[in-house]
Amino acid sequence: MKPGDHVQVKTKKETIKGILMPQQGSFVVIKLKNGYNMGIDKKKVVKIKKIKSGKGIGKIKTKKVKQKKDLPKVTFIATGGTIGTHVDYKTGGVFMCRTPEEILATTPKLANIINIKTLSPFTTASEDMSIDNYKKLAKLIADELNSGAQGVILTHGTDTLHYTSAVLSFMLEDLNKPVAVVGAQRSPDRGSFDGKMNLICAAHFCKSDFAGVAIVMHGSSSDEFCYAIRGTKCRKMHTSRRDAFRPINELPLAKIWTDGKIKIINENFDKRSDKKVVAKTKFEKKVAIVKVFPGSDPSIIDWYIKNGYKGLVIEGTALGHVPTGESGTKAGKFNKKMSWIPYIKKAIDKGLVVVMASTTLYGRIHPFVYRNLRLAHDTGMIYGEKLPSDMLPEVAYVKLGWVLGQTKDCEKAKEMMIKNLRGEITKRSDAKSFLF
Ligand code: ASP
Repeated sequence: MKPGDHVQVKTKKETIKGILMPQQGSFVVIKLKNGYNMGIDKKKVVKIKKIKSGKGIGKIKTKKVKQKKDLPKVTFIATGGTIGTHVDYKTGGVFMCRTPEEILATTPKLANIINIKTLSPFTTASEDMSIDNYKKLAKLIADELNSGAQGVILTHGTDTLHYTSAVLSFMLEDLNKPVAVVGAQRSPDRGSFDGKMNLICAAHFCKSDFAGVAIVMHGSSSDEFCYAIRGTKCRKMHTSRRDAFRPINELPLAKIWTDGKIKIINENFDKRSDKKVVAKTKFEKKVAIVKVFPGSDPSIIDWYIKNGYKGLVIEGTALGHVPTGESGTKAGKFNKKMSWIPYIKKAIDKGLVVVMASTTLYGRIHPFVYRNLRLAHDTGMIYGEKLPSDMLPEVAYVKLGWVLGQTKDCEKAKEMMIKNLRGEITKRSDAKSFLF
């Protein structure tokens, strides 16, 4: 008997049928029909019988879904991630190899909501996404929307889903239709697979009046509803919960149910229009996020200068602090060499654009509250002018890369960084959005 075989396990109490998974210590593990794995203590097993041989890494059965021509045309682009995984019965792990058709086979109901065209430009886990992948996606999406698609569903790994939603928000100028970015926290072989509901809600989102990029994922930990969250205001906030994607510093755009009901929560969005989408994909790759922490060595900035970096996002503490050694009358035993101020100044003098974003994620940075904050601001680091920024560090990174792809002029780049371009900087902080 080998992993992947269909087996029947008999204990004194019961008979269990399922697919044999790789051995786990003193347990026989089988995958039940409902997708859950069950471990049975080997001591309790009376007999194991093979029912039929498995294919090891099996292909998912995909029936050709009959498309309904009168439904709105939506392009389905699959890139990888848990939503597109197979169980590998040799190792027991899941791996990303599903075709779009196989993903759709997990959710055949989609064909009752939208008329689907499938595309698969590449397959990768989201932690392996590259800037070139982003460019490819932006071009593909623009082409699809400009040639008749009413919306786009993009399936993607969840780990960096919020980087992709942000980068697409910037790259797709004059975005006139909905783009739903969707993943799954649990793989399709499990009973708690969340991709099905996320896809159905995404399909409803694609039929709506929204224009813009949104992440559409579970709103709560049960299969109740999804939230559509602006692509520049969303973040993965939990490693495994199905409702891991939360809006940060603003409310979600809408609540969506599987029956197609959509409740608008945040009215601040563009509406569907006939504009032509322009893919502006130039992106400066020499941009990085540098995190500040007690004891952090600022000379890391020298490395970025030496290696030709053009922009840095400094992830500072709370309101936007960096270590300065200037925080009191006798500032502890601060070693002046650990001050970030001269290094940031040096970077700016060398022509890098340096932007502050906060480790707290929630709230705005503000350079004038403390003396040491003012010192950091005086370096020329960008905090936002009249409108102190509430941009997420990841969004600030993506925006800086994109902005420096559009212009090499530091002053112009600075102007673009402090301006709200895609809903990434809110005008008003809504108290209800905290830990929403
Ligand atoms: N590591 C995976 C990825 O981001 C996890 C997932 O898809 O949810 O691709």
